Amino acid sequence: MAARLVSTEPATGAEIWSGTVGDPAAEVAAARAAWPEWAAHSIGYRIEALRRFANEVRAREKLFADLLARETGKPLWEARTEVGAVVNKVEISANAYMERTPMRKLEAALGNKIAVRHKPHGVLAVLGPYNFPAHLPNGHIVPALIAGNAVVFKPSEKTPGTGAMLVDCFHAAGIPEGVVRLLIGGPEEGRALAAEPGIDGLLFTGSVRVGMALHEQFAKTPHKMLALELGGNNPIVVWNAKDIVAAATIVMQSAYLSAGQRCTAARRLIVEDGKEAKLVGKLTELIDRMIVDHPHADPPPFMGPVIDNQAAHHLQERWVELMMKGGKPIRRLDRPDEDKPFLTPALIDVTDIKGRPDEELFGPVLQLVRVADFEAAIAEANNTRFGLAASLVGGSPSQYDQFWKQVRAGVINWNKPTNGAPSNAPFGGIGLSGNHRPSAFYAADYCAYPVTSSEADLARANVADGLRDPNLQED
Ligand code: NAD
Repeated sequence: MAARLVSTEPATGAEIWSGTVGDPAAEVAAARAAWPEWAAHSIGYRIEALRRFANEVRAREKLFADLLARETGKPLWEARTEVGAVVNKVEISANAYMERTPMRKLEAALGNKIAVRHKPHGVLAVLGPYNFPAHLPNGHIVPALIAGNAVVFKPSEKTPGTGAMLVDCFHAAGIPEGVVRLLIGGPEEGRALAAEPGIDGLLFTGSVRVGMALHEQFAKTPHKMLALELGGNNPIVVWNAKDIVAAATIVMQSAYLSAGQRCTAARRLIVEDGKEAKLVGKLTELIDRMIVDHPHADPPPFMGPVIDNQAAHHLQERWVELMMKGGKPIRRLDRPDEDKPFLTPALIDVTDIKGRPDEELFGPVLQLVRVADFEAAIAEANNTRFGLAASLVGGSPSQYDQFWKQVRAGVINWNKPTNGAPSNAPFGGIGLSGNHRPSAFYAADYCAYPVTSSEADLARANVADGLRDPNLQED
């Protein structure tokens, strides 16, 4: 009998969804069979189909947000925002297709024309993470479909119910079942899907550990598209901030939204040594007021639990390690109920730790680093192999200019949180945060390949040099 995957609510442990583990080869075969017809439709036809999908999601907004909140543990208000982002992705991706990969005619010598057009790759596999289980895979799937690809989507094994609802919306909108396939499963199915000869590429959002394994797996298939959207160890620098309450609020949002389970979450708070007391005071005030509760609780929580007990346990272990290495807790990482993955927002001063681990702690843990001057703040911001997001709060315009020029990251903000990146701009990181295939507005680029054609209505040709004159007799 086929294995079943059961999904449970992080906040309660209750079963919320279950489904049959799929067969990667069968899903890829179904997508391959459906692909040519989808690719043959006009771009206008495909965009219209996706607009119907957006309407379908809109119609199910309540149901969708409810499931998403329960399955991830994120507050209902946040789940609603995610469903809104799924809807908005369609128009953004249609615009991106037109702007990034339109048909263009270039002038060439003697009135000849050069045309640049784009073709879909074929069948693209999409592997999704659990933290934005609808918005992030959707950010690959919608542009892939608009470009004319078929898709096999494997949601995270921690959020399969949300993945199933997303795929159901595509089908309910009239997009053929073969064109978007749902593959239920975990890492094993993910590995098998990535190894399928029938895929033309893989669009991945997840951890650097898995991203590196996929990069290795794809080493012998350079002809296949591989887009990796990975994690970060993101810095937020607060420097001479005039409005301390605003600065503390921006830090809180950066570090603890989604219980710190955002790739763009601030992990390291960098401040001027000796001048941090007011900021830390305001930040701890906010931390102490923060509601951590069930996604549907009233009053609504700022954050819910992390995804599961295993994740909570891992974070607790890392926290203890930081303390053992010399970190000084300012607010502890507590787990009020050992059977549930609720964690309290934590803040720890790690300035005295030599060789701080450059690791993404994917939860509500913020590490404080005190530095002597602004140059040291920039050096500390760059003290990571990742390069996803970075923010400066406060500072003068010239300091922001210096920060922008010298910090290595794909998202660099001023007086704004590290997270909450706009979907209508490119999104991606450097270093270990990705493989230079930015997503969001630039997703169009990796969903299609350019074809350059020199074209003329009539075949005209001559060779000026290098041929013997046929009228000259040879001796
Ligand atoms: P993960 O890497 O554990 O899993 C992602 C997906 O890969 C899941 O579907 C999983 O089943 C699958 N998978 C696991 N092992 C695999 C293997 N060996 N081969 C193929 N597939 C495999 O990530 P996660 O824990 O679900 O998500 C959190 C991570 O995602 C964090 O590191 C976060 O920073 C990152 N993330 C990045 C972005 C971005 O856009 N850069 C956005 C959100 C999350």
